[in-house]
Amino acid sequence: MADSAVAGVSTSELDVSLERHLGPPAKLLAKHLNLHTVGQLLNHFPRNYLKRGELTPIADVPVDEEVTLIARVQSANARRMRTRKGMLLEVIITDDAAGGIGQMNLTYFNGYGAERELLPGVRAMFSGKVTMYRGKLTLTNPKYVLLDDDDDNPDYVNKPIPVYPAVDKVSSERIAMAVGIILDTLDPAHLIDPVPEAVARRDKLMSLAQAYELVHRPAVVEDAYRAQHRFRYQEAFVLQAALARRRALTAREEATARPPHHGGLLDQFDARLPFTLTNGQREVGDVLAADLAGDHPMNRLLQGEVGSGKTLVALRAMLQVIDAGGQAALLAPTEVLALQHHQSLTRTLGPLAEGGMLGGALDGTRVVLLTGSMNTAQRKKALLEAASGDAGIVIGTHALLSENVRFFDLGLIVVDEQHRFGVEQRDLLRSKAAASPHVLVMTATPIPRTVAMTVFGDLEISTLTELPAGRSPISTHEVGLAEHPAWIQRVWSRAREEIDTGRQVYVVCPKIGDEAGTGGEDGSALELYSPDVQAAPSKQELTSVVELYGSLAEVPQLESVTAGMLHGRMDPAEKASVMGRFNDGDLQLLVATTVIEVGVDVPNATLMVIMDADRFGISQLHQLRGRVGRGGHAGTCLLVTSLEADHPSRERLAAVASTTDGFELSQKDLELRREGNILGASQSGGRSALRFLRITQHGKIIEKARSDAQEIVAGDPELVGYPGLVNAIELYLNPEKEAFLERG
Ligand code: ADP
Ligand code: MG
Repeated sequence: MADSAVAGVSTSELDVSLERHLGPPAKLLAKHLNLHTVGQLLNHFPRNYLKRGELTPIADVPVDEEVTLIARVQSANARRMRTRKGMLLEVIITDDAAGGIGQMNLTYFNGYGAERELLPGVRAMFSGKVTMYRGKLTLTNPKYVLLDDDDDNPDYVNKPIPVYPAVDKVSSERIAMAVGIILDTLDPAHLIDPVPEAVARRDKLMSLAQAYELVHRPAVVEDAYRAQHRFRYQEAFVLQAALARRRALTAREEATARPPHHGGLLDQFDARLPFTLTNGQREVGDVLAADLAGDHPMNRLLQGEVGSGKTLVALRAMLQVIDAGGQAALLAPTEVLALQHHQSLTRTLGPLAEGGMLGGALDGTRVVLLTGSMNTAQRKKALLEAASGDAGIVIGTHALLSENVRFFDLGLIVVDEQHRFGVEQRDLLRSKAAASPHVLVMTATPIPRTVAMTVFGDLEISTLTELPAGRSPISTHEVGLAEHPAWIQRVWSRAREEIDTGRQVYVVCPKIGDEAGTGGEDGSALELYSPDVQAAPSKQELTSVVELYGSLAEVPQLESVTAGMLHGRMDPAEKASVMGRFNDGDLQLLVATTVIEVGVDVPNATLMVIMDADRFGISQLHQLRGRVGRGGHAGTCLLVTSLEADHPSRERLAAVASTTDGFELSQKDLELRREGNILGASQSGGRSALRFLRITQHGKIIEKARSDAQEIVAGDPELVGYPGLVNAIELYLNPEKEAFLERG
């Protein structure tokens, strides 16, 4: 580390080891906070700031509120706890503020640091939430900052006190001292700003040195906020630069050009289409056609409203590639979806997918399915067709990634429902092509632009906003059984009515029910933001597919209805048969898990009943109801829940019932869930990752940063001229953190 200080331009003061400045105490920071370099310490930002101006006298403290107060320790007592392991420190503090004497109890569980520091007579500032315990005002595990006795100095009185994320062995105050030493010796000339000078000047950003000074030692708290703004932009910029660099580097790779071929399969397919493309489908189609015709790989995200016809857009791209002599692979997150895609693409293509078969189109191709649960003979046949090139389209799950899958000439990879596939898996599939293949990623549901720019930031983005004509509106209703237990009868009556008019009905349950007690998850596609199932613990047994299906016979309203059952743990042949029968209208009602969430397409289905709907996330519900209202008959979705009306999870249901606009819903979804879930678990709690940037709130900053970053990367894709930026990318997105770019 220390050596890099003489290595020239690529060196930043930020890389210097803390030991050089702090000596042996640096060991503590390294050991307990994993802070080794100047940059890491300076980026260990205060969590918040305490202001003395806002002190509360003990005599006035409100119960159940956060308070900050200055007081002196009167006594401190540590004792072992009787009922559980560990130590309990009880501290009594007093103040003489506001003309009265106040006294208050503090308790610290295992407060070994506090035991050492909070000695009788010591003055400190405490903050925490006041509770009433055994009739006494109490603060439990309050944060504190030790104070000197020089209260008279007015500067000092008003200066905000930074509160750092601290640990037992290294207090906030100690961190502040270390930071102070670093700031005092910091030479701004050796500080390489990750934000290029031109950008910083144009955007009127304060200097990096000043930002560090103000965020750590603000004279007034507003200074700290201004500094935070600088770091917020910086985070967005570094992130976007990393993504732009990745985009630029993949775009420079060579790909086989797959220009359109006049009179080929695509033209024949278009001529056979029973409907006209929407404007969006046509426009995005043109963009894809041009991408594919280029000799650099396409890397594009196709997002759009549920039912907007993304699969058709993808299929047309595949046909163009086949026309140009290549093959396409379609990667689905679950076997059911792969199966479904295989059936529907084969059906949609008709004779065009019967190449080499009697009655097939002369230049027709073949669509083959390759899944993990196929038997050896089927598998062998599929593998052969992929390797020989007879199969223009190979559809599969992760099984496509396995080593013995070979393609004759893989030209395009389509990834459906991206969130199950990380960059790594895409790279694996890429490696099966001679040159870099073109890649098209489809999302299940729309996501707000700024989130797309971040989570899928290494891809170009295309969006389908419009639904094909002839779609019928879907009305959605909450069915709160806690308020109206009898409404479940009305649900079944409603199902009966649909069936009597010749329509079909889905009933979705959160759980399979063929296992002991636990369950639910059956490998079906999860939404991008996995539902926070744990947040809604229900005392009730969840409705299960097996049980509900078994009890349908006892529902009077459903007498003589032909029903089927579908879930992920059924035998594949059985699954295929059930889906086939529902498709053909043989089955009037289908009880299923979320295996039907994506892709299943039965225009005659008009009612979707979702049992224990509170167990699903917003976009999952939105996706599910997109299964109805596809065939010109109005669709209805009933969200059945047993949760009380004021349960927080009911908010999600109300949101879904209130609008069918997917973009609006995904925005709402983001507001209701915590940020960490967006970028994946690796994001939360990390030191180096985003500290000030909130993807949901700071869209403008992200857009600005993205265009700034694009400009920089366009002129210097490898960022050779920007060592500070390269450094920051590593510092922010160190290997474990890089995971969030890979949202696997
Ligand atoms: P998505 O994957 O975007 O949710 P799909 O591709 O599954 O949507 O399309 C939903 C249904 O709409 C399919 O039955 C498809 O054949 C049909 N469809 C697609 N494009 C059109 C169009 N332009 N006009 C009418 N129907 C269309
Ligand atoms: Mg789809």
